[in-house]
Amino acid sequence: MFPFKKKKNIMDVRTYGDSGLKRKSASVREVSDEIRKTAFALIDTMRADDGVGLAAPQVGLNIRMVAIGCAAIKKDAGMMLLSPGERELLPRMPLVLINPRIISYSDVKDVSEEGCLSVPDIYAPVERPVSIVLEAGIIDGELVRAECGGFLARVLQHEIDHLEGILFIDRLEPEILSDIKPKLETLKKLGHKKGFVKKAGGSLL
Ligand SMILES: [Zn+2]
Repeated sequence: MFPFKKKKNIMDVRTYGDSGLKRKSASVREVSDEIRKTAFALIDTMRADDGVGLAAPQVGLNIRMVAIGCAAIKKDAGMMLLSPGERELLPRMPLVLINPRIISYSDVKDVSEEGCLSVPDIYAPVERPVSIVLEAGIIDGELVRAECGGFLARVLQHEIDHLEGILFIDRLEPEILSDIKPKLETLKKLGHKKGFVKKAGGSLL
């Protein structure tokens, strides 16, 4: 017998300039078969593109779903004391969160370089709270409410921003944004750009 291989459902990732990336996404009302199919496709697409997170609007679907997870998050987390959310979610990755929202943010912030599958080739430092309290449904699972720190906190904030139509470049210091403006204009003109080179060690969200 031939080994059976599950067909992967890889979707086209929209890039900067796509109007759907600026739109606020609608809540998921019920976890239908369609939503389950979308969840698998989000994970397959995230993995195929080497991402650590992927929000539904990035593949043209303005619904409140995000895929998260990859070895990079786990590796990072292994280096430090884990938050309750990391302890709960990391072993279950990759996973898809339904209607995720952030209940509260820490006052303490830090700055770290971010990249995005929808803004290929551009990396820039973004200031964000170091810890958040997440509330989210897990597909075919329970509702999770947990304090998340580490790299996971940053990934979640980046992905949930996508559901609000916000990109990481919208959160940059004005001088940094003006530095990358020419690259953004080129990206907008080229539209969907395939086969960009991933920066070594960079994380795409
Ligand atoms: Zn992104």
